[in-house]
Formats: sequence, C-alpha cells, structure tokens
Amino acid sequence: MNSLSIVLRIIFGPRSFNLFLILAVLAVGCKSSQSIPTTQEIESHGGLEPSDTLSQAATPGYDRLVQEKEQAIALYKPAATKLFDILHTELDLAFDYQNQTVTGTAELTIRPFFHPQQELVLDAQDFELGRIYYENGGEPQSTGYRYDGQQVRIYLPEEVTRADTFKLSMKYTAFPERNSGPGSAAISDTKGLYFIDPLDTVPSKPRMIWTQGETDHNSKWFPTLDTPNEKFTQLIKLTVADSLVTIGNGELVRQEELGNGLRKDHWEMNLPHSPYLAAFAIGDFGKVEAEWDGIPLGYYVEKGFEKGAERVFKNTPEMMGFFSGKLGVRYPWPKYDQIVVRDFVSGAMENTTASIFMEELRLDEHEAIDSEWDYIIAHELFHQWFGDYVSVESWANLTLNEGFANYSEFLWNEYKYGADEAKLKLIAETENYYAEAENKQVDLIRYAYSNAEDLFDSHSYSKGGMIIHMLRTYLGETVFYRALQDYLEKHAFGNVEVNDLRMAFEKISGEDLSWFFNQWFLDKGHPELLFEVDYSIPENILISVTQLQDLNEAPLYQLPIVVSWYEGGERKSKQLFMNQAFQQFALENKTPVDLVFIDEGKNLLAKRIQSSSPEQMRSQFRISELGIARYEALDSLAAWEAHLELESMMLEAVMDEFWAVQENALSILQSHTEWLEASPELEQAVQSIAIGAGRNSVRSGALDVLSAFDPDQYQALFLELASDSSYLVAGSALMGLVSAVEPPVDEATIERYSGETNYRMVIPVAEYYISNYISGKGNWFLRQAETIKGEGLYYFLGYLSEYFLRFPEEGEEEAVEFLFQKFQYDSRSYVRLGAFQALLGFTEPAENLARLNRIAGEESDEELASYYNYFLEALNDEN
Ligand SMILES: [Zn+2]
Repeated sequence: MNSLSIVLRIIFGPRSFNLFLILAVLAVGCKSSQSIPTTQEIESHGGLEPSDTLSQAATPGYDRLVQEKEQAIALYKPAATKLFDILHTELDLAFDYQNQTVTGTAELTIRPFFHPQQELVLDAQDFELGRIYYENGGEPQSTGYRYDGQQVRIYLPEEVTRADTFKLSMKYTAFPERNSGPGSAAISDTKGLYFIDPLDTVPSKPRMIWTQGETDHNSKWFPTLDTPNEKFTQLIKLTVADSLVTIGNGELVRQEELGNGLRKDHWEMNLPHSPYLAAFAIGDFGKVEAEWDGIPLGYYVEKGFEKGAERVFKNTPEMMGFFSGKLGVRYPWPKYDQIVVRDFVSGAMENTTASIFMEELRLDEHEAIDSEWDYIIAHELFHQWFGDYVSVESWANLTLNEGFANYSEFLWNEYKYGADEAKLKLIAETENYYAEAENKQVDLIRYAYSNAEDLFDSHSYSKGGMIIHMLRTYLGETVFYRALQDYLEKHAFGNVEVNDLRMAFEKISGEDLSWFFNQWFLDKGHPELLFEVDYSIPENILISVTQLQDLNEAPLYQLPIVVSWYEGGERKSKQLFMNQAFQQFALENKTPVDLVFIDEGKNLLAKRIQSSSPEQMRSQFRISELGIARYEALDSLAAWEAHLELESMMLEAVMDEFWAVQENALSILQSHTEWLEASPELEQAVQSIAIGAGRNSVRSGALDVLSAFDPDQYQALFLELASDSSYLVAGSALMGLVSAVEPPVDEATIERYSGETNYRMVIPVAEYYISNYISGKGNWFLRQAETIKGEGLYYFLGYLSEYFLRFPEEGEEEAVEFLFQKFQYDSRSYVRLGAFQALLGFTEPAENLARLNRIAGEESDEELASYYNYFLEALNDEN
C-alpha cells in the first residue's frame, strides 16, 4: 500500500531537508547519561507495597515496570494460529447500487491445518447470512452456526482431520457501509468495498465499485480467514451491467452473457495469495494494453484518459524486466493490471495482479508529459514479489512488505535516473522517519500494538526502506540480490517473519548478521553521531565520533561509516567501523587533505552533528563529484543564509549537472534577483535554461526567476512559452505574463487561457482576475473548483475564497457550501486542509463558525485536527 501522506509530502515539501542542516554549533550536552530520579519523582510513585519475597519490589518504579510488562503481553499480537487452511475460495457476486450492498454466494474449500477440528470460525463482517452447507464427499448438508455480526462460528456435523478436504457454502448479503470506521495514516477508511457515486448523482463523477482489503477489510465482502498467513486460490464471478468493465485478480477466463443487459465475468487465480490481496474494480473504464515478456499488462482509466495512462504507466514493462532481472525471480503472476479509480482511500494498493491507484494518476495526454508517478508504480509492482508472492505472516512484520516496496522506488530511480536522484528520494524518506520519530519511536518489528492500522507509518515504510539500503551498502550488490532471490524462492507463495530475511542474508554472505537485525529491526531509535575532524596534521587526519543517542531508549550502534576525500580530483574512500560510544580513527591519508567527507553519499540512517563553516560547505559544493553532496552544500548554505558564498557559486549551481541542484539554486535565486542585476552572465544562463535546456521542472524554475526579476522585459518569452507542451513550463510562463506591470498584459491575452483546466494554468488566470479586481468570474471559479484535480485543488481553494470575499454577490453561498462539502467529505487530507483554510474567511454568520467547529471535531487525522484546533481556539475566543 502507498500512503496518502506521500502525496502531501510531494506537494508540501520537503524541498529543504533538515538532515542537511549540519549544525554550525557543537552540541555539548550528552543525552546518554543515566537519568537519576528526583525525590519528587520517587515519591510520586507512592502506593507501592514493599514485598518481602520480591526484593525488587522495593525498587522505585517497580509497579510501573510490572504494569508496562503486563501491558506489553496484553498487547502482543501473535500471528493467527492456524486451525484451518482455506485452499480455494469461489465467489459469485452481484451488486445493489441503491442500497450499496453485495449479494453473494461463497464456496470455500477447507482443510484442518494439523489438529482435528469440529468448529470453524470465519471472519464475515456485517453480513446477513442464510443457511450454511457442509459437504465432505457426500451430499451438502445444512449445518448450525452462531453469528455475532463480525465472525461466524460454524458447528461442523462431524470431526474433520487434516486428511479431510471439505466445502462450506453460503449465501449472504454484505453491508460494507455499516460500521465503516477511520483507518490508518495509509488508508482513510475501512469499508473493504466502495460504491462510488452509486446512484449517478454527481455529474462529474462516474459510477464505480472497487475494493481495498488491507489489513482485514476484505471480510466485509466475503467470508474468509482474514489474516495474511492464510493463502488460497480463487475464482470470483462478478455480475455487472454489460456496458461495464471488470478487473480482478488473475485471469479473465470466461464472460457469460446473462441477458437483460447483464454479464457475468469469471476471474480466476490459480496461484495462492492472502485474503487481503483479493480485489476487483468495476466501472466504465478504458483500457491501454501493453506487454512484458509474454505477460499481458493493462492500464485502466476513465475513458478519455487512455492516452495519458499510456504515458503515466509507460515504464511498467521496463520495471518488470528490471526487477525480474535483479531479483533473479521472474514476475510470478500471469498478468498485471493497474487501475486508476476515484476517491481511493490510500495512494495505491498492490492487490495481486490488479493494483489500484488514486485518481491523481488520471492525467490527460498533455498533463502526463510531466507525470512523476514512477515511484508509486514501482512501489506497487515490487509488492507483487514482496507482499504478494512472499507475504508477512502477521502485520507485526509489515516492514518486510513496505520497507521493500519503499526501497524499490530507490532501486528504480537509481537504475533509470541515476544515483543522485535516487538518493534525493531516500533522503526525503529518512526525513519522514525523523519527523515521525520526534513523537514516536518504536521497534520496527512490532508484535505489541493496539491497532494494525497504526503500523502503516514512516517506521515501516521509510525507516524500513533505509535499513534495507544500509544492508545493501554493507553487503554489496551481489550478495544483496542473491540473498533476496534465495528468500523469495524459499518462501514462494508462503509467509515470512524477519528472521527468515536474516537467515537468507546469512546463508548467502556466510556472515552473522544478528547485530545488524537486532539494532535496526528489533529495536527502536537511531544513531545520533557527533563528528569532530582534526585537520591539524593534514596528511593524517583524525576523526572522532561520539554516539549521542539516549542509550536508555536506543541501542549503542555498530556502524560502518564511509569517509572520503579527494586527491587531485580523484575520490578516495575508507570504511570505518564504529562499535563503541566514543571512537577515534586516524585516516592515514598520507597526501595532505583539507576537507574530509563523512558519509558523502548519504547512505547512513543517522542524525549527524558536525561543525562546518560556510567556507567548507562551498568547498564541498565545488569538490564533490556526488550530486547529492553538492545538493547538501547548497541547501545548508541557503539555510544558513550564507549569501556571500551562495552568490559566488550561483552560476555553477544553476548550471549544475544534477537537476535538483539547479532547481534548488533557481528557487534561491528567485528571492535574490539582485544577483542577476550584478551578473549578466547569470541572467543569460537562467534565460537559456528557460528557453529549452533540460528538465521541464528546471525550465519552470528558471521562468519563475525571470518573472521575479523583470517580468516586463521577458513578456515576449513568457507569451511564447505559455503555449509550451509542458504545463510546468507553460504555467510558469503564464504566471510571468500575469506579473507584468509595464505594460500590463491585456485581459484578452489572459482570457485565451481561461478555458484551460490544468491547475498550473488555472491558477495564474485566477491570480490575474483577483489582482486586477475583475468581476463577473464567479461562475468560472465555481466551475473550475468542481473539476480541478489533484494537488491543484489545494491551491485553488485559496483563490476561490479570496474571489468570493471580494465579490460575494456572485455566489458566496454556493462557494461556501462547496468548501464545507470538501472540508467534510473529501478523502484527501490536503483537500480538507485547503478547504478549512479557505473557510476561515467565512466564519460569519455564527452558524458557519459552528459548522466549522463541528466538522473539525470529526477529523480523523490527528495532525490536521490539532491544526484546526489551533486556529479555531483563537476564533472561538474572539467570538
Ligand atoms: Zn506498499
């Protein structure tokens, strides 16, 4: 699964990485010293009865310790005990759009796992059940059961042993709308099956049905043992209107015309997988067909967007080849479909052979030119091995799914776009983890949790991915992939826990790796390292490292650390191995060196504290051959506001061979256009980038600089590029036009773009209307708000609010209602946030404020809820 927070991350940053803010001041305090409880703390633990038999009981805090340990046992979630194994699941389903229910017949082929059994408990959430029939060789016979609305306990008419294979069949109606509750950071709802616009009442929204099973939500539409350590083959029959398309797991083996405009599609999976991976989607989809090495691929999207889908998913065959080749295990399933739906509850989900994606991937041909969805496509595809082919035995080991899927984004990027681009993404991931670690530090493998949805966090995804990267860096490419092949082959169609992964790596490398797995997978926290580099003997530089993390909470780490330096332009490196709290290493570099890089390639998950001067950072920028190190230098200098150094290197930065350095340089330059004044050469460079050199995002950045610098002078260029094939470029050019003052651009020119629907074009037009007090555009704003897609809506809502504050007579009421609808119901947290911010302008009359308060109180995203609170408290006080 891929979480929505990824979308937020892309939209809101991080453009600047905290990791790179190497502190200019040395941290002196050491957090690792033992904390000694004060008298007050000891007293506050009163109520402890010292026991004669337990001498420990006299220790302060003992009762708390007992409580903690008992709580840990109570929260311990073992993998589900296997009493039965479902071998095959056969479903025959039809859909009631009016009532949003599923009527079905299920036939399960089952065998006791080991011990003889006479009762079987199936997960079946919010069903209405008819008779249940048991069949074991003879005629089917009705059998007794007890149903509590969530699980059905079936009393088998005879004791069955593992030599028996029997069938249970039942008719049922499933009510996925009942008891739907808040999900996790990764998914925002738990219905399992979703009817989108079921009665076709929303004009711009097509009717659809799709499912989302992870974690245990598929038992809201079929009876099963809803746990990842169950695996079965399946046949799912879907009865639909014959105008619609269905997509399911495995292969479409049959289509039955039923008459009356109905059709029954048979989707068969002959290879076993876990219940949470069962899925289907139904809708009026268009399909783009592709192929990789005999495996048929389908990209499904709403009709009219096929050309875009062709572009968005175009790298899929190459990815399949790349992953198959690297892993030494060919893509294990008979086909691979990717389906873009509406209102999806997460970023995407890796259902076996049928990944489902959020609507942000629904782009028209023109928009798809700048599509950057490779990472999410790689993520779900890699899950087809890590998650689907080999599954975790319980959610406690979730990182064995998500850490790998997360890391596949790096692997693909590295292969396709180079190490620097891949590293940029990896650093963004570690930033996610650090942000989360501010408030939450837990073991990566977690058996103690209250809700499985809590495991879908940046620990399981980002930290997990980084740890896998460190394993690869430490063991080397060959061992890494050979071990993964061994792991996949050994556990094919099976389930794993973290020790299986360790064993595979130990088997191939011949090396004990408990130390690595213990500190990273089975413990919490991360290293905080203080580096001090002594340059006083330039031919033998001394590096001191101190581990500063709180050892009460985190391990004392064993860490390979790479240091590097340049001799006559040639990069040299050396690996140090840290295994103490404080260590010193002599570099024995022999040739004098005045700058040493520690972890120059950013391969370590560690917070680094190191004193560094702007001068040294500029040297780093000039010396390092690694784009990511140059990016770090630029980013640090910007954070320190080291303007002297920045200005002196701006031309090099703007012309850097790594696009992210260019992009960053241009965004710095945007607030320092005086540097262009002083350097015609720099202005010339920016101008030539804008005209056509390189990546569209960089060209767009260059246009932004020119419009901040002198929009009047560049009007002709802006006008020309406002018709560029890339919306990134065209949008920036249009904004440049709108910024022109002398002469201002005439209204007719801007009006030519008012029919555009891509937000990069819509927003400059909105900006123009608002900054020029142009009235009569109320309908335009309302219409755009209805159709604008993706992250653009977040920005647009602010403009919408501003326009109707200025011209309320043009439809304020309708606009406010629209905002309230988005605020209350939109599945994307960033849209709810945008609507909230927009509504802050409309807190009068009092009933609006009351409504704002009420909806804010229902927010399930904690971060958002506290953000709302912050503003509402002040507002409520005022009123
Ligand atoms: Zn995932």
